[in-house]
Amino acid sequence: MSNSAFQSAGRATSTKRSTSVSSTSPPTLIRGARAIITGLAGERARSSATDIRIDAGRITDVGHLTALPGDTVIDASGCVVYPGWVNTHHHLFQTMLKGVPGGINASLAQWLVEVTARYRHTIDAEALETAATVGIVELMLSGCTTIADHHYLYYPDIAFDGARILFEVAERLGVRFVLCRGGMTRPQPGFETDIPRELRPESVGAIIDDVAGLVHRYHDPDPLSMRRVVMAPTTPTYRVRPEELREMARAARSLGIRLHTHLSENLDYLRYFREAHDRSPVEFCADHEWIGPDVWFAHLCHTSDAEIALMARNRTGIAHCPASNCRLGSGIASAPQMAAAGMPVSLAVDGAASNEAADMLSEAHTAWLVHRAAKGLGRFEGGGDAVTAEQVIEWGTSGGAGILGLHTGAIEPGRAADLAVYSLDAPRYMGLHDPAIGPVVSGGRPTLRCLLSAGRVVVRDDAIPGVDLVELAARAQAVVRRISA
Ligand SMILES: [Zn+2]
Repeated sequence: MSNSAFQSAGRATSTKRSTSVSSTSPPTLIRGARAIITGLAGERARSSATDIRIDAGRITDVGHLTALPGDTVIDASGCVVYPGWVNTHHHLFQTMLKGVPGGINASLAQWLVEVTARYRHTIDAEALETAATVGIVELMLSGCTTIADHHYLYYPDIAFDGARILFEVAERLGVRFVLCRGGMTRPQPGFETDIPRELRPESVGAIIDDVAGLVHRYHDPDPLSMRRVVMAPTTPTYRVRPEELREMARAARSLGIRLHTHLSENLDYLRYFREAHDRSPVEFCADHEWIGPDVWFAHLCHTSDAEIALMARNRTGIAHCPASNCRLGSGIASAPQMAAAGMPVSLAVDGAASNEAADMLSEAHTAWLVHRAAKGLGRFEGGGDAVTAEQVIEWGTSGGAGILGLHTGAIEPGRAADLAVYSLDAPRYMGLHDPAIGPVVSGGRPTLRCLLSAGRVVVRDDAIPGVDLVELAARAQAVVRRISA
């Protein structure tokens, strides 16, 4: 695409980037889209409109519109427009741990030992900064504008401020960032004696104090916020004591923040809670106040009908991570059944160390496929109606926004102007009878004519201004060489 796709209707506009939900983002008209998928459910999933007006970081109109004096006009002819994807569970530090040989054919328990526990001590400030940059750039190039990162690289006397690094990288690149502050108060099983510094647990008081400090420094409760903080112990099983779980929930609610953790990723969770507490994982969490519309769990590959009903009644959500779950052989979450029961469903990439990539289009494509394969597995043929592309897009956009409490993830007036404008100009997308769903059903990665975050263009002609991918690749290679030495 030439630069002529971005035109000013009347006056020059600044390209200066601001750092918050901004009234400085220029009035913009996205004009002539081939199709618009709204991110909303049911009959509202598709819009017959061709144009979207945005101002001060919000969508102000969707229809057949003409440019106003002062509008910057983005030519979207031939393009398909989606809401910016909302990724509700990630571990950005793992971006430098893709394809670690000891973990590539391992399931969860062995993978945790071979990959995250083994390499934890190698992640320093430089490695984390590089990992976050690569990870967020990868997500942005898939059309993602909101990232909830479950960051659990914490131990007593850690030498660098991981939260500051993550928020700074996200701000520099222009995306919304939700820091889910992880951590453990009990050592990882197998590491109880002679614990290396990087695997030592923190006290619950230290975690709560740190979360309170992070809320003070970064958390913005506004529905169009660019920065949020969440209480997120790494798992509620072996890593924290039950009474501490309740203490964390109460602290989070008194701070006005949400709650997140891993749950029922594999069958070990079910065995553990049954043997230790004679409860199902979701029942145990509910007993300890980890249930409600301010709670979402990653994975939930193994849930009973009763657990789904309990979460649905309490509007507790899921970060559905099908690619990581397939990669580790953990199972397939019953996301369509959860959605049908009324549970909030979102999509997430999980860490790149158990995915080997981390982009929202791959995740959506995997979700679209895997539930079709799973529906009749071993019983009958014909799961072609298990999920629609529109439903998967809803999970990955407005579904995630709802779980995070953000007014993003949909194309309708009043919502944040977070928009992905895809050019379907690669052979992969040629011949589509319904190009609107091409980015999900054809898979791959269509190029972006632009990506807008809070109304500002953060990807233009498939490139991120200020990011040199050759230099970034060299940095990533150097980090991988250093940490694997
Ligand atoms: Zn995870």
